[in-house]
Amino acid sequence: AAEEGFDVEDVEGAIEEAGHGPLPVLAVVGRPNVGKSTLVNRIIGRREAVVEDKPGVTRDRVTYEAEWAGRRFKVVDTGGWEQDVLGIDASVAAQAEYAIEAADAVVFVVDSTVGATDTDEAVVKLLRRAGKPVVLCANKVDGPSGEADATALWSLGLGQPHPVSSLHGRGTGDMLDAVLEALPEAPAQTFGTALGGPRRIALIGRPNVGKSSLLNKVAREERVVVNELAGTTRDPVDELIELGGVTWKFVDTAGIRKRVHLQQGADYYASLRTAAAVEKAEVAVILIDASESISVQDQRIITMAVEAGRAIVVAYNKWDTLDEERRYYLEREIETEMQQVAWAPRVNVSATTGRHMEKLVPAIETALAGWETRVPTGRLNAFLGEIVAAHPHPIRGGKQPRILFGTQAGTKPPRFVLFASGFLEHGYRRFVERRLREEFGFEGTPIHISVRVRE
Ligand code: GDP
Ligand code: GDP
Repeated sequence: AAEEGFDVEDVEGAIEEAGHGPLPVLAVVGRPNVGKSTLVNRIIGRREAVVEDKPGVTRDRVTYEAEWAGRRFKVVDTGGWEQDVLGIDASVAAQAEYAIEAADAVVFVVDSTVGATDTDEAVVKLLRRAGKPVVLCANKVDGPSGEADATALWSLGLGQPHPVSSLHGRGTGDMLDAVLEALPEAPAQTFGTALGGPRRIALIGRPNVGKSSLLNKVAREERVVVNELAGTTRDPVDELIELGGVTWKFVDTAGIRKRVHLQQGADYYASLRTAAAVEKAEVAVILIDASESISVQDQRIITMAVEAGRAIVVAYNKWDTLDEERRYYLEREIETEMQQVAWAPRVNVSATTGRHMEKLVPAIETALAGWETRVPTGRLNAFLGEIVAAHPHPIRGGKQPRILFGTQAGTKPPRFVLFASGFLEHGYRRFVERRLREEFGFEGTPIHISVRVRE
């Protein structure tokens, strides 16, 4: 490294930064208008993000990355709340439940100028049941005179209320320190068989693509392993199913099976549920209804799984309904609309007839193998050397940026750091990614490439 002009400390720092595994998840929950979105904006340090939403507009992003005191984590915002047929308490509880399920710690936001309401109490019950660490945010304490209102929230029985003004930033630092204490370094969910436990699959896709049909099909034909967790009174959220001789955990199956019909906010619930399932899973099986055009909603779900860095399999369902013409157009759509997961294993299935169900497990195994691939540094650098020699970066301003060396900093998904003598153009980075995939596989996994430029 030194002879290439990089400081050893810089190199080690870059590798450590790029090499992080899955990040722990913080959920922000509470009633409408208590200031959840305002707080999330504070935490992620971006103002434009979430508050401007108009009622009825579906928010498509619910998960954000954040950093505090040098630690990185994900924040699940539940501010896209809309009341539905369930009534206010049940609606708030339902949306909080998904977020809490996926979270390693929770910030419960209460409006201290209003005090604890019945709806707040309903969320407290949920939090008690979930047993996750909770940080109580007494929001809207804009000045010292509000401190007494915050103190009154001890009555919720959730420990110390942290007086905060999300609007002005008062107290947010202290509260975030408490959040970091509550939040584990890595997600509580273990990733990978080496750490024990079945691999976790999220079955995702927009409404009516056939998620529940597919789940029922595999659960009926294969053995549903009895969940041995005693004393749980709730519906099983995750289900153990034996497929191809291996036990898998299908996450958030209750969300798939329980067909809650919502008049409003259904899209938001669906987004939240998908985000939560993806966070809990190692591999996402994305279901697409092959009988219909691939939609913006399909793309949004794909983006969620890719950005979360999960292994991905794409299953085109309802294959039994396709005629020759639809098949022709589907292939054209896949070429144009499915670019962002062109590397994912594909299966053409029918939940109704059971067609190609046996191909699902090999596809999932392929994707997980790609997700866990580690390229030895020697092999990687031999390969990078060949690329640089055969396809050098175009000359810009009389200079030719060069990749000097690289390393794989992490897996699940694979993360690379390349060290270069100058700025690498987007097109060249894409080229390097394509060649990496050709050389080393990475089927079914997103890969991250970050580039450090020598000063
Ligand atoms: P959400 O529905 O829980 O996401 O709430 P929002 O973040 O949309 O906030 C609801 C309203 O409360 C907005 O008008 C915010 O400006 C206001 N608000 C949020 N935090 C504070 C605060 O700390 N102090 C005051 N005075 N107002 C706040
Ligand atoms: P979900 O909302 O994604 O869980 O979708 P469902 O499993 O409820 O399926 C929606 C509709 O599509 C139902 O009427 C199913 O019977 C139908 N469906 C699901 N899979 C298939 C399939 O492979 N072929 C056909 N023809 N219909 C299917």
